[in-house]
Amino acid sequence: MTTKLINFKKYSSFKIGGSFDVSILEEDFSNIENCYLIGSCNNTLVSPNPPPLMTLSKMYDYIKIENDVLKIGGAMPSGKVASFCKKNNIANFEFVSHLPGKLGGLVYMNAGLKEYEIFNNLISIKTTNGIQKRSEIEHGYRFTNIDKPILEASFKIQYGFDIDKVAMFKKMRSNQPSTPSAGSCFKNPEGDYAGRLIEAVGLKGALKGDMCFSLEHANFLVNNGNGIFEDALYLIKEAQRRVYEKFSIWLECEIVVLDVDCMSSNSPLIKKT
Ligand SMILES: Cc1cc2nc3c(=O)[nH]c(=O)nc-3n(C[C@H](O)[C@H](O)[C@H](O)COP(=O)(O)OP(=O)(O)OC[C@H]3O[C@@H](n4cnc5c(N)ncnc54)[C@H](O)[C@@H]3O)c2cc1C
Repeated sequence: MTTKLINFKKYSSFKIGGSFDVSILEEDFSNIENCYLIGSCNNTLVSPNPPPLMTLSKMYDYIKIENDVLKIGGAMPSGKVASFCKKNNIANFEFVSHLPGKLGGLVYMNAGLKEYEIFNNLISIKTTNGIQKRSEIEHGYRFTNIDKPILEASFKIQYGFDIDKVAMFKKMRSNQPSTPSAGSCFKNPEGDYAGRLIEAVGLKGALKGDMCFSLEHANFLVNNGNGIFEDALYLIKEAQRRVYEKFSIWLECEIVVLDVDCMSSNSPLIKKT
């Protein structure tokens, strides 16, 4: 595989991370098992010690209509999906106009806003292992059990792009900070809100270095300028510890922490041990 050098302080939405060689996945799917696939790192915290990384080549950056099915390559950015749907009067993708990421990342995370989720109109995905129908994929709130790189996804088409919905989604974002972040830091636990819990344990506005649980929205961990991985991790762990001690609720990370130690099975970060 060819590689390219990516500076994650520029590339990731958190604006955190060093420069690492990232392998480019084209059509040879051998020797990829030990590499971690990234999209555009809008949901990702990159450590100084990440696993080997790879990303889809530009050959997966496409969108087309074939036999009345919408086919989107895994490397297509959400903004381009939204523009295509607007131009071709396709409904149900209005919500991606304000949802940063590439199609593969959106599908893997089952990204969405409230009841509008990318899985709603999904027919199937094409991975490095072949075709998987929607019914064969376990999925839920910000969760799927997809374990292979998504090269393409196929969607049902309904016509009628709704410009009012774009405005509605923009408004839904108005209480969210524009400071660099990776969106919601934790998933909302069932029947509750991560932001409420973070505030209840006194961490809304809490600072460590340049990292902060935003005063605008406590579940947004933001980088005020020169935030570093270690400070982000400190605040994540502190929120998990305090919320667990006070409420016996384990806050599960929505953001993906790309760090060799955190990703090991013993890590208390991703799941409670
Ligand atoms: C300001 C802001 C607001 C946000 N608001 C929301 C929101 O309202 N709702 C929401 O759901 N998300 C939100 N997010 C998070 C982000 O938009 C989504 O998680 C998006 O899906 C990330 O896509 P990405 O390409 O950047 O993925 P990355 O961050 O690069 O990767 C995320 C995960 O997806 C996997 N992945 C990436 N590409 C592929 C692929 N081709 N095949 C298989 N797995 C892959 C990675 O391995 C990783 O586990 C927000 C982020 C920001 C910065």
